[in-house]
Amino acid sequence: MHPDEFRRAGHTLIDWIAAYRERAAELPVWSRVAPGTIRAQLPATPPEAPEPFAALLDDLERVILPGLSHWQHPRFFGYFPANAALASVLGDLLSTGLGQLGLTWQASPALTELEEQMVDWMRQLLGLSDAWRGVIHDSASTATLVALLCARERSTSYSQMRGGLQAEELPLTVYLSAQSHSSVEKAALLAGFGHANLRFIPTDERHAMSVEQLADEISADLAYGRRPCAVVATTGTTATTGLDPIEPIAAICRERGLWLHIDAAMAGSAMILPECRWMWQGIEAANSLVLNPHKWLGVAFDCSLFYVRDPQHLIRVMATNPSYLQTTTDGAVTNFRDWGIPLGRRFRALKLWFMLRLEGAEALRARLRRDLAGARWLAEQVVAAPRWRLLNQVQLQTVCVRHEPPGLEGEELDKHTLAWVGRINDSGAAFLTPAVLDGRWMCRVSIGAELTSHDDIAALWALMREEAEGDSGTAP
Ligand SMILES: *Cc1c(COP(=O)(O)O)cnc(C)c1O
Repeated sequence: MHPDEFRRAGHTLIDWIAAYRERAAELPVWSRVAPGTIRAQLPATPPEAPEPFAALLDDLERVILPGLSHWQHPRFFGYFPANAALASVLGDLLSTGLGQLGLTWQASPALTELEEQMVDWMRQLLGLSDAWRGVIHDSASTATLVALLCARERSTSYSQMRGGLQAEELPLTVYLSAQSHSSVEKAALLAGFGHANLRFIPTDERHAMSVEQLADEISADLAYGRRPCAVVATTGTTATTGLDPIEPIAAICRERGLWLHIDAAMAGSAMILPECRWMWQGIEAANSLVLNPHKWLGVAFDCSLFYVRDPQHLIRVMATNPSYLQTTTDGAVTNFRDWGIPLGRRFRALKLWFMLRLEGAEALRARLRRDLAGARWLAEQVVAAPRWRLLNQVQLQTVCVRHEPPGLEGEELDKHTLAWVGRINDSGAAFLTPAVLDGRWMCRVSIGAELTSHDDIAALWALMREEAEGDSGTAP
């Protein structure tokens, strides 16, 4: 494609994206296409001759659009907010347009140095001390894997340079909460700890890791001749945004020599609000932490921040230095390939740079405060409504609820919950993701899409009451 053609097609595509964002509110939130529908409309074989851009745009509208679930829809209340602020979309487009690949500092000095600066800007906005150094990864899953590799190598004095875990005498154990994200278990398995060496610590009535049980499990493992290696604590668990108490957990880790990694993938964004920072009190005593600006904060996926206290240890674990990557500046610069798994790196910092400069931190804080207020409002409605139960402490933007008609229990209650949530999702008017909490299905309302206003939350609540109460014949 010639730059002239790119200019024309590019303007058209930007117009299409802008129009898509404007009409998102009118589309059914969740795609209801049957499996295979999209693929069946695509030619079985690739084109030999070039096609006009207009033909592509037609198919975008006709084939692809119906197969999209609209995460940017104002009535998207599922999973977690995955905002893609348009300012960051421009940064992402630029990243691709520049075609940079950050193999080394020398391969793209600006890519590395803008990333260093953006990670430091974010550190300041999050209220973290300057003892932290960070890097941008693709996802929290990757960051947590890297954190557990660091923990493993610290506990074993760099076993990877010898026989690895396979040559260790004592099994290493890892502690996580029963409410921790599936990516934590996955990371521990990939890092070679083995499922038998994972300890799922029970949670208390606030869905937070029980510190006593953690201490007991560590003592039991020590007594048994195992080597406790790492704790992963969560600030903002997936089901209920529960908060593991970092300060006492960090004290245990320090005393027993365990690595402490904090998974704040979702809730970390809220730490730009000084009034939320009590939630990760004790954070300075952790060894590593991850948060995803590509969720609530608004950076278009993918942009996950990974911070460590000891970058030299991280580099020692992750670095390889083949001759074809060595440059004369190596001692004086940051080579981010040594801070993570992939060699090639995208220019992701542009997304943060664009969003922070074009929106400013104050607007981001205002948006997050709006969402916190929205969640509190909904929680108040739930508490005041007969036969509705609030299941979590609403400190962040997720509200966990159940409608409990008299006489409905156990599986019957589960059926009722899944039925009314399913009807809302099928209607296309809003989207919710139910989850199991303490063995029973409940409905999570995750607030925080960029376009969600108070009216959207009020409309959702009316819809929830209509669908749930209508079903059971128990409307007051
Ligand atoms: C979303 C989330 C993850 C996974 O994030 P990815 O970036 O998709 O890997 C992990 N932990 C928590 C608490 C999350 O909310």
